[in-house]
Amino acid sequence: MQLAVQNKKVLVRVDFNVPLNENFEITDDTRMRAALPTLQHILNEGGALIIMSHLGRPQKKKKDDGTINVEKFTLRHVVTHLSSLLNRPVKFCPQTVGEQATQMTSDLQSGEVLVLENTRFQKEESKGDEGFARQLADLADVYVNDAFGTAHRAHASTTTVAQFFSKEEKSFGFLMQKEIENANRVLHNPQRPLTAIIGGAKVSDKILLLERLIDFVDNLIVGGGMAYTFVKANGGDIGDSICELDKLDLANKLEDKAKAKGVKLVLPSDNIIADDFSNDAQRKEVPSDQIPDNWQGLDIGTKSREEFAEIIRTSKTLLWNGPMGVFEMPNFAHGTKYIAQVVADTTQKGAFSLIGGGDSVAAINQMGLADDVSYVSTGGGAMLEFLEGKELPGIKAMES
Ligand code: AMP
Repeated sequence: MQLAVQNKKVLVRVDFNVPLNENFEITDDTRMRAALPTLQHILNEGGALIIMSHLGRPQKKKKDDGTINVEKFTLRHVVTHLSSLLNRPVKFCPQTVGEQATQMTSDLQSGEVLVLENTRFQKEESKGDEGFARQLADLADVYVNDAFGTAHRAHASTTTVAQFFSKEEKSFGFLMQKEIENANRVLHNPQRPLTAIIGGAKVSDKILLLERLIDFVDNLIVGGGMAYTFVKANGGDIGDSICELDKLDLANKLEDKAKAKGVKLVLPSDNIIADDFSNDAQRKEVPSDQIPDNWQGLDIGTKSREEFAEIIRTSKTLLWNGPMGVFEMPNFAHGTKYIAQVVADTTQKGAFSLIGGGDSVAAINQMGLADDVSYVSTGGGAMLEFLEGKELPGIKAMES
């Protein structure tokens, strides 16, 4: 980060949208920890920190009388924990903008930290409203955006606010930089072979991603629920497996495109099937195109695991987005776990691996493998859009 912050008031947009339990205690502080390098750097360099973030969806979950549920969505919930992470006192302003926010920020000294109230308490936030963004900008001398998870949203605090700072007065934070660098490492000049492993429930969620990947990957492994749309499109029997009938043509087109481009598109050859969508259902292993009626595929089979693993092991760059099955149910998590381990082992042998959003991130974290892969993205939707080749408004706003 090149930005000069000494004796400056630094407005930092972070993603502190952390999960809370019913007592409003933080159950996973990954997002807060991810922002620490940027926050520590600014404090070490003598800046005064004005932190802003959203938390939940207060506009969508208002109380019966139409007012914001402050108790549930206040960013005050993160203050004590942030204070222990930064090892210094943290002040809280019960306003996002307004007289009190102006007063508290103007009183703020170098090395001090102030958290503003949830940006989404203002309905102007998600509209990218200029007036609200200007009020935010007026609180500070410089602006830092480290909220990669919301970079795909053109909101006031992530995008519009940047226009009130010159190029010399704004910067990405370290997290944002890392996310962009790691994604670009896969998208531009990857070491080959480059293999993408795409899973998850639906083809429709990832059409743009699949189409784009075929333009530049060497191997495209498709697992999870979305594979059944491909199997069905090829004339296979998929029983009650999840399938998007309106996407069969698309699946055929994607396979044709892959063939034309010389990309190896690999589907699971066998599956673990179940007679119910339940962890305790009866299980069988069958070829992917021979799933009987009343049965559904919920995981890749043992042969598919090996076939996928062989391709992964010989790759130099790996991109993984989406689980290989319904990994939330332990009996159908084996395929996802197996692939996670192979991705980690291959990374340890020198490959570069990006876990690019989706539930594959949860799988890697649950297995304690986050340190054994090259990079685990913090931005689900944002990373997906970045990989799809879309220009993210939160990134574009910093470049002009
Ligand atoms: P995504 O958020 O796109 O990574 O999708 C993850 C979701 O896909 C998880 O909730 C999985 O349970 C679901 N999923 C993966 N495989 C299957 C399958 N074979 N049948 C139904 N859902 C699946």
